[in-house]
Amino acid sequence: MDNIKDYVTYPKKIKHYDTSKRPKRQTKFAAGVMYLLSKALMPRQVQGYKIDKINTENLKPPYILLCNHHTFVDFQINCIATYPHRVNNIATVEAFYLRAALIEWLGCICKRKFTTDLSLVRASYKVLKEYGDVLCMYPEAKYAPVGTTAILPDSLGKLIKKCKVPVATLLYHGNYLMTPFWDFYRKRKVPLYAEMKQILTAEEVEKLSAEEINAVVRKAMEYDEYRWQKEQGIKVTEDFRAEGLHKVLYQCPECKTEYEMNSKGTELFCEHCGKRWEMTELGELKAQRGETYFSHIPDWFEWERSEVRRQLEEGTYSFSNDVRVYSLPWTRSFVYLGDAHLTHDAENGFVLEGEYNGEKYRIHRTPQSMYSLHVEYDYCHIEKDDCIDISTKDDSFFCYPSQKNCITKLSFATEEIYKMIKEKKNKKI
Ligand SMILES: [Zn+2]
Repeated sequence: MDNIKDYVTYPKKIKHYDTSKRPKRQTKFAAGVMYLLSKALMPRQVQGYKIDKINTENLKPPYILLCNHHTFVDFQINCIATYPHRVNNIATVEAFYLRAALIEWLGCICKRKFTTDLSLVRASYKVLKEYGDVLCMYPEAKYAPVGTTAILPDSLGKLIKKCKVPVATLLYHGNYLMTPFWDFYRKRKVPLYAEMKQILTAEEVEKLSAEEINAVVRKAMEYDEYRWQKEQGIKVTEDFRAEGLHKVLYQCPECKTEYEMNSKGTELFCEHCGKRWEMTELGELKAQRGETYFSHIPDWFEWERSEVRRQLEEGTYSFSNDVRVYSLPWTRSFVYLGDAHLTHDAENGFVLEGEYNGEKYRIHRTPQSMYSLHVEYDYCHIEKDDCIDISTKDDSFFCYPSQKNCITKLSFATEEIYKMIKEKKNKKI
């Protein structure tokens, strides 16, 4: 809370960043600079990197490149893999924070997370049809919490179908193991590997339906970093390797208590019942006494999701908490809006209510308008703590709950509520 004074007060006529801006074409010079910098500035913890290209002999721009998303080094590998082609990346508004001119010059297209914005379709068209370049997307729209594929939006197939260009994937391996989302500030020594693969030709895109395209993309985007770690025998020997893991494994499988997990060194433990697990060098969990329950971290994560689903089906899920709010209407500064109240449930979705400069405000996102939620662990741009972002078309509200360790559950609830609505709709048809 000490750094609140660093944020400006809300100007009377605040400008909002224009996400419908025409994307700049990346220059050949920019692509070259990015290529050289990406190679030169590889983190010292990277124990070598390898990029394999499959079925890309005839792949020429324009094409769509779909990548998974783990950490900043993804962009560096991307620049190296796509060079010498010019690339326009779709990036979230925070990427433009304090450096909008530079990010625009690099050809990035701005998007607010988990909002519907038609200008994105126009920008995609411009890049592919007018510039004839590569359109790069991170369709999971957030860093992977436990190194597995996140939900991909249904709209992706429609966009690809409309654009009528080839589609390739670029899947990163090792990036998550080096910098897990839940311990973002410390890197582990790990080798990196990336596989670039053409998954659809322009002719196939023409032939297949949007649903069929989605099925191909979903299959191609499947990954599990802990499985990869075991298969490759990659040892993470750092003695802090489990620190932060409780942010994603927030529920104890022994006593079922939520939000009371914690971690230190190589251990994960429940502060409610005292159960402890050791995280091995190969990324597996082992209970120090009694049953392990889940040795594979993504299995524990998915079990938590099923618990949230059960609460939703039983009608016992709801969230209500006081939050500290910062908004990001433009790219120059976050605006501290003070304390507010946030609720989330299956009927109303997210409702954020607060008061700023004597005026009451209310932000409402319905359950059917959000298929997922933007979460940040120890967020680097504002307070180093966990927060979620509720975005509207022209603003983003970063909310820091007073309840510790709850944002992963909020993200499960958002996704499961959306899925339940979709399932209900499909049943009716
Ligand atoms: Zn417990």
